[in-house]
Amino acid sequence: MNKILVLGCAGQIGSDLTLELRKIHGNSNVYASDIRQADKDIMESGPFEMLNVLEVNKVAEVVKKHGITQIYHLAAILSGNAEKKPLPSWDINMKGLLDILEMVKELKVKRLFWPSSIAVFGPSTPVKNTPQQCIMDPNTVYGISKLAGERWIAYYRKRYGVDTRSVRYPGLISYKTEAGGGTTDYAVEIYYEAIKKGTYQCFLEKDTYLPMMFMPDAIKATIQLMETDANKLSIDDSYNVGGMSFCPDDVFKAIKKEMPDFTITYQPDFRQAIANSWPQSIDDSIAQRDWGLNYQYDLDAMTKVMLKEIKKKF
Ligand code: NAD
Repeated sequence: MNKILVLGCAGQIGSDLTLELRKIHGNSNVYASDIRQADKDIMESGPFEMLNVLEVNKVAEVVKKHGITQIYHLAAILSGNAEKKPLPSWDINMKGLLDILEMVKELKVKRLFWPSSIAVFGPSTPVKNTPQQCIMDPNTVYGISKLAGERWIAYYRKRYGVDTRSVRYPGLISYKTEAGGGTTDYAVEIYYEAIKKGTYQCFLEKDTYLPMMFMPDAIKATIQLMETDANKLSIDDSYNVGGMSFCPDDVFKAIKKEMPDFTITYQPDFRQAIANSWPQSIDDSIAQRDWGLNYQYDLDAMTKVMLKEIKKKF
């Protein structure tokens, strides 16, 4: 039986992933944790611990006390926020990973999930259908920490046999929580603003294509990868996962089909430069081959769900 610990459960991914893991493994077998309280449905459906990944001894106590077999390490500072505070963000993203890797090795935790990001790519990376292996020259503190993290998980796998699974998430879109300070956040905010105000001021140019994925597809992919037999996996750092590729103008048109009066304006900020250094679409054929990655949602299907669910909140 698996006993699971989720670090950083209160964020955009953890809010959905923790509940899905509880459905699969049983509420009492999934320990949620963060440096802040999570949503009511997480706090009330199973155990929760206040845990800071920078205090690894406290994390280790929880792992030992409950006989944790799998850890999902989601605690991080995302791209937009990390640019505002580079060094403290590096500490959380990098020391926060290295300490957990070392603890997983020492305590022989069976499996670790740690997400990477399309931010590992940079201006010299091919932008269309970006391959699994290519030039990677990230120029953001977030991207540099994710690329270094990928090398560290590969190192711990080879040297110590630590089984870390990882995907390079594209921009993730969900209705449950506000986005966590990333460059792809516009694709969440736009739906909220459409419902609240009927108009949205976008911080990226209208034709900025980026790879994106709807949260239910991301959660399904994450769990699928964690459940795959190790002998099927050929990538020792992090798998490309692509989802769909669209630009703000595409989302605007998809929303307009449902809400004809919706309007948009464009005022690019510092995140435009970050977006310009990232791929527009991703080749994820290796993930499809190795562990059966597939997607259910395209832009129109996702837009219908987003608008319906956000309307319920207001
Ligand atoms: P988020 O910012 O919404 O959530 C991160 C959570 O980590 C927050 O609840 C925060 O309180 C917590 N946290 C921060 N510092 C902590 C610390 N020191 N100790 C414990 N918890 C701490 O981020 P998210 O979108 O849920 O992302 C989760 C992971 O997925 C991150 O590694 C992120 O880099 C990666 N990722 C996310 C996206 C995306 O679009 N959301 C894309 C690519 C990769």
